Amino acid sequence: MKNFDTVIIGAGVSGLTVARLLAQAGQRVVVLEARDRVGGRTWTERSGSFTCDRGASWIHGIDDNRLTAVVHDFGMRTVEFTVGSYQPDGRPIAYYDPAGKRLNDGAIREFADDVRNFDLHLAVSIDASEVGSTYLEAIEATLARLVWEPDRAERVREFLLHRSEEQYGVWAGDLDAHGLDDDIVDGDEVVFPDGFDQLSANLAEGIDVRLEHVVTRVARSAGRATVSSNQGEFAASNVVVTVPIGVLKSGTLAFDPPLPEWLTSAISGFEMNSFEKVFLRFPTRFWDKDVYAIRQQGDAGTWWHSWYDLTALDGVPTLLTFAAGPSAIETREWCDDRIVESVLQSLRGLYGERVVQPDQVLVTDWQSDPYSRGSYAYMKPGSTPGDHDLLATPVDGVLHFAGEATWTEDPATVTAALRSGHRAAENILGRKLQFRELADPL
Ligand SMILES: Cc1cc2nc3c(=O)[nH]c(=O)nc-3n(C[C@H](O)[C@H](O)[C@H](O)COP(=O)(O)OP(=O)(O)OC[C@H]3O[C@@H](n4cnc5c(N)ncnc54)[C@H](O)[C@@H]3O)c2cc1C
Repeated sequence: MKNFDTVIIGAGVSGLTVARLLAQAGQRVVVLEARDRVGGRTWTERSGSFTCDRGASWIHGIDDNRLTAVVHDFGMRTVEFTVGSYQPDGRPIAYYDPAGKRLNDGAIREFADDVRNFDLHLAVSIDASEVGSTYLEAIEATLARLVWEPDRAERVREFLLHRSEEQYGVWAGDLDAHGLDDDIVDGDEVVFPDGFDQLSANLAEGIDVRLEHVVTRVARSAGRATVSSNQGEFAASNVVVTVPIGVLKSGTLAFDPPLPEWLTSAISGFEMNSFEKVFLRFPTRFWDKDVYAIRQQGDAGTWWHSWYDLTALDGVPTLLTFAAGPSAIETREWCDDRIVESVLQSLRGLYGERVVQPDQVLVTDWQSDPYSRGSYAYMKPGSTPGDHDLLATPVDGVLHFAGEATWTEDPATVTAALRSGHRAAENILGRKLQFRELADPL
């Protein structure tokens, strides 16, 4: 049995943040990671000139965001790429109507104004919604109040459904009415041309991380805990669990004694989503110039409706689209070729014969990954935003939880992972810690 001050389970951004802050404070820490790499749901693949973030890509709003300073301190390059949060406008977007005709600037402005106007009314519906009601019910209640003519209402309804799918990877009828309360973007958004994984690589520098250590059990007694893995046992005064909600719910990680009822009940209010990325690299560009994104309205866009032009990252014509919510569930068993052909078919509806075959594709599969079981957690009907923070309440003074789902203000993000890790370190040390220290060498 190896002894430490703190054992951290999971080498994603939250786990590495706790580990780094505690190590900087002089603690003996170890991070046990099931996979053969650090980073968790920040995972960059490099193939030739293609640097591709399979997991997180965006900082969704760089203003007033602790993550912005941290990536800057680590010297990570960023490229501005706003509209990554399903905004209706703000940057040039090529909108196509249900018949495949491109909307002119005036029509786009009217539509975006409708969405903004609708959002104001939607906020009132959500405030008035009953506990356990869904985002879809709030949308329908708002539409019923506004009495817009059918086409206008339908364009906004479908936009809101797609927002729920792209932002939370879930159909609006399965999301709590408050499930998108945190959906506020402060300032521009940025992506990382050299890969988001640089963050975890920097955080892990000098930390004792044990890869391919699958944790199966955490036993706790007064002031002490023992963590069992496939490669032996580790004992410590504190244990920080950062595994995703999907792993917590899977039963593959046992707690002895079992977790208290208030905690299991809060955990059961969340679910891992269905959200996958499809990257397509083309020999030539066939789509509209000078746009950040392309959007298809109407039935033709039920599955594939938004494509993000990533060409600016390395000069190779590249589109990114998402299988999100129902489409991710439906295509889960499909092979990559079938998914790509389905996406290309939708693009042909807009660009006809100009669409060429991609010479490189990448399709993710987070739903089948045993160490994430989805991309990030959403609020099931009946849960409340405050349940996120509840998950982080220490148990018996030895067991701590961190990770994206434990942060109320901006869950489902790397920012949430970082901030939750910082909070866990503060809880363990019983004092305030500066974020800026994270980038200091160990
Ligand atoms: C496709 C996709 C797109 C995303 N897009 C964005 C985005 O653009 N912007 C954004 O901010 N966020 C985005 N996110 C969310 C973001 O990636 C996560 O919120 C964040 O990385 C979570 O960090 P974490 O430390 O909480 O969890 P994780 O990164 O999941 O870390 C937990 C670690 O625990 C390990 N683990 C699991 N089980 C065990 C076990 N039994 N024993 C030991 N180790 C175990 C896992 O392998 C993992 O490394 C995206 C995520 C995905 C998947």
